[in-house]
Amino acid sequence: AEDMEFRLRTGEVVDDTIYPMAPHMASEDSRFNTFGPWPSTSPVRPRELAQAGLFYLGESDQVQCFCCGRMLKGWEAGDTAWGEHSKHYPYCFFILGHDVGNLPSQGGSEG
Ligand SMILES: [Zn+2]
Repeated sequence: AEDMEFRLRTGEVVDDTIYPMAPHMASEDSRFNTFGPWPSTSPVRPRELAQAGLFYLGESDQVQCFCCGRMLKGWEAGDTAWGEHSKHYPYCFFILGHDVGNLPSQGGSEG
């Protein structure tokens, strides 16, 4: 965390005014609803992906982040949505915890 704060202060991270890249997917429920045809063989579950800011593009197992707009695919056993997102795109403002307009699920039933 300290290293990240240093990077932010030095301006290495781009301005967050252009985020989120996909504002229509700022709602977790909207993201979750894109996973209808999600492959059942995938080791990562739709709810977990939606909570990590990701929505389904309807092709293979490729998902996109509503905030940074980056893509992730090729999910393997042991992967976690948040873990892969933060590993590949550590400067995503959603990953960094910035207020990018994310709306958590209103369902509140999952655990
Ligand atoms: Zn992201």
